[in-house]
Amino acid sequence: MRTKAVYIFAGFSAILPDFDYLGFINNIPYNSLWGHRGMTHSLLFAAITGLIFGLPLSLLQKAPVIRLSVFFFLTTISHGIIDACTTGGLGVAFYAPYNTLRYFFPWRPIAVSPMGMGFFSERGLVVLISEMYWILLPCAGLLLLQLALNWKRKS
Ligand SMILES: [Zn+2]
Repeated sequence: MRTKAVYIFAGFSAILPDFDYLGFINNIPYNSLWGHRGMTHSLLFAAITGLIFGLPLSLLQKAPVIRLSVFFFLTTISHGIIDACTTGGLGVAFYAPYNTLRYFFPWRPIAVSPMGMGFFSERGLVVLISEMYWILLPCAGLLLLQLALNWKRKS
């Protein structure tokens, strides 16, 4: 399952939900179903993305469809989960289209990112540091733990 294609699709699926930013350009209201953090951040969208990415890759990888589909579901929904831990904007429509309410988690330590070119500002730097602290460091820790476990298993 660990091939370059799987890693590339995993990374793409994790940023795919924010393609709803194109809605701002097309005047789709933020709080609508297809607005930012709406349908593309939902569990249903993650499930569909999981299947769309998982099916062809399972044929190429000769890996179980369910395993890759669940993997891509998790990489996609991780985006919404992280957004629900941010300090601003509207919440995440996890249950869209059935329920369009927006949700945040009670614990929201991650600074919300400014939209568009605002990211390339002093505020964007604060967000980047916040994301490094709350996302990159824990992921790096998990990666090191996995490497250590693999190393121990081989020796
Ligand atoms: Zn997002």
